[in-house]
Amino acid sequence: MTVAEFIERDTLFVGGRNTTPATSATITVRSASTEQTIGHVAAAAEADVDAAVAAARAAFCDPNGWAAWEPSRRADALTALASVIGAHGEEFATLVSAQNGMPISTARQIEGGFPGALLSYYGALVREQPPEEYRRGIFVDGVVIRREPIGVVAAIVPWNYPQTLLFTKLAPALAAGCSVVVKPSPETVLDSFLLGDILEQHEILPPGVVNFVPGGRDIGTYLVRHPDIDKVAFTGSTAAGRSIGEVCGRLLRPVTLELGGKSAAILLDDADLAAITSDLFAATMMNNGQTCFISSRVLAPRSQYQKVIDALTDMASSAIVGDALDDKTMIGPMVSEAHRERVESYIRKGAAEGARVATGGGRGGHDRGWFVEPTIFADTNNHMSIAREEIFGPVVTVIPYEDINDAVALANDSEYGLAGTVWTRDKDRALDIARRVQTGTFGVNTYVPDPVAPFGGVKSSGIGRELGPEGLASYQQPKSIYVP
Ligand code: NAD
Repeated sequence: MTVAEFIERDTLFVGGRNTTPATSATITVRSASTEQTIGHVAAAAEADVDAAVAAARAAFCDPNGWAAWEPSRRADALTALASVIGAHGEEFATLVSAQNGMPISTARQIEGGFPGALLSYYGALVREQPPEEYRRGIFVDGVVIRREPIGVVAAIVPWNYPQTLLFTKLAPALAAGCSVVVKPSPETVLDSFLLGDILEQHEILPPGVVNFVPGGRDIGTYLVRHPDIDKVAFTGSTAAGRSIGEVCGRLLRPVTLELGGKSAAILLDDADLAAITSDLFAATMMNNGQTCFISSRVLAPRSQYQKVIDALTDMASSAIVGDALDDKTMIGPMVSEAHRERVESYIRKGAAEGARVATGGGRGGHDRGWFVEPTIFADTNNHMSIAREEIFGPVVTVIPYEDINDAVALANDSEYGLAGTVWTRDKDRALDIARRVQTGTFGVNTYVPDPVAPFGGVKSSGIGRELGPEGLASYQQPKSIYVP
């Protein structure tokens, strides 16, 4: 299955095989770079969600099934799956890139590489972890603490890194012994069909352990409220996260929410602008700015403000904008026409609020594909909409600061708290600042999330953590057995 061929599918992967859906509803997928239709696939209806949850429940309750397997046996399966999925890395990268506009070089690295790394990491982690531990008690002789899988998980995934953000949920959930119903985004649904085919062909996981219900918000809402779901793992917008959190609160249903961001890059006065350009480009514009953790606010010392604007203008104006599947492309298109309109509306709003477009602002002469040029805003302050709201495009707002305390205060003056970066030659100053910024993650002269380290946000950026041992723990329920 590649983008060279038009993808047409009339089945859904439920209960370990491709099954006929309850209705004839479909999803049409278009290429972000060419606007051509590249796929036409089945969409799930509520009855399909019921079937998928029932299959996941049956798999979970099977007394000899996945949840009952020895952790080492599950670890072997995850290792085998990592190798099978790794062999399809190029296909996943190509499909994702065609759908959402992610430059293919980034897609190969992340969408083609991260899922296998996560499966291997969580396989190794669960192999090492004893399923039960014994503690001496104070009022009772001892307590056996069991780590039990939390149950049937609803995994709801956005379109910006559809495979990576699926596997940040799937890998630890599977390692823990859970079964999963996945709802991919309609914008990037094709790669989930490829994954379903791989799972069906290799039969590494027992039937029903993973199921897909492609669809829009309505199907996501139905899944989140489904009475037989034990946990919801969501990545997406803060608005959707709030409404899912409200439902889960009422149902007393555990939920992990990975939401939006408006992170700050703090440039210190000793930063070597020429040397950091390529890392700063990745930290501010990765995946065309369609990345939750990018540092979309750059904080620059007032004394060096013009120098920073000039350096960022050079960086943005020299980035190659083009078809996402071209190896040379550094900035591809936005995922959809509607999303381009949203990004362009922020560019208009920034100008209307008095900021100056130092470079970019247009479509780079592209009349096909949903392109937005890399855009740098100068003469801004932290109160403008372009400094406060998540734009999710290649648009960077450069804000001057007076001193380090002011820089930290500006970084923290945000509704969000997902990430941030600091750029300096002085590691001690960098770590001091990293400790003072109120976010879940932070980078020094780079920003690269790692499978071993918990990832997530504070404030409106979410609740809970994915990745690391903390990510595995979020799919496990501790049970205490008091032993006289
Ligand atoms: P979105 O919230 O519109 O949709 C995300 C997913 O949730 C989609 O599958 C969608 O169909 C579904 N959905 C939407 N509303 C729902 C509801 N009420 N109930 C159940 N499901 C629902 O977000 P998006 O536009 O697809 O993705 C972009 C957003 O995701 C940005 O805000 C970005 O910052 C955020 N994001 C966060 C992280 C993170 O780890 N913190 C990572 C990537 C993206």
